[in-house]
Amino acid sequence: MSKQRIAVAVDGPAGAGKSSISKVVAKKLGYLYIDTGAMYRAVTWAVLQKGITPTDEAAVTALLPTLTLRLEPTDEAFTVFVNGDDVTEAIRSQAVNQAVSQIASIKAVRQFLVAQQRAMATSGGVILDGRDIGSVVLPKAELKIYLTASVDARAKRRWLETKDKETISLEDIKASVMARDEMDTNRKESPLVCVPEAIVVNSDNLTFDETVERMIQLITDAEK
Ligand code: C5P
Repeated sequence: MSKQRIAVAVDGPAGAGKSSISKVVAKKLGYLYIDTGAMYRAVTWAVLQKGITPTDEAAVTALLPTLTLRLEPTDEAFTVFVNGDDVTEAIRSQAVNQAVSQIASIKAVRQFLVAQQRAMATSGGVILDGRDIGSVVLPKAELKIYLTASVDARAKRRWLETKDKETISLEDIKASVMARDEMDTNRKESPLVCVPEAIVVNSDNLTFDETVERMIQLITDAEK
């Protein structure tokens, strides 16, 4: 009998490799992958593009009904569109990195995106990654993974990813990763949390491929 494809929640701090690992795992298993961080980044991009101050909650909230977000799967990952504009690259900029945790702390933004994330995850065979997937978005997910690593390892990974695109020092990346962790963990709305039932995977001493293998193992074990 074929196994039942499940919903997998992957949470963890910034730069733990959630997106790059989940993307590969999903492709190997034929699962749908949804990067919820990209959705918060897309809203942040729109806020900045409109010249709205990220702390102006009323203006950010008023912008939401005008936004149509779309994640279109590609061979590599997916293309992110905001009102038809391809923002896939733009949402990874340092300007977005710096503002995204502020935008993600706004209740209306979370309600707007969580509804869309749940709608996208109605069928089995999905991996969602973010901060509140196991706790809020999919509390009934059959498998919850908390993917983490030391702050130094996470900062170095982010720096390697961005150094060819933007001039930024490892120290500055580390400060930005720590600032996001601080805001994401301590915010009132849906903070980053490791729920008790989550399986913790620490990638400090694992290569990329080993982390992928570990996740595939956990998922195939959890499929019924
Ligand atoms: O995953 P990524 O680092 O791209 O997420 C960017 C930011 O979006 C996080 O630092 C966090 O503030 C926010 N986020 C969130 N909830 C999620 C996913 C991301 O608050 N489910």
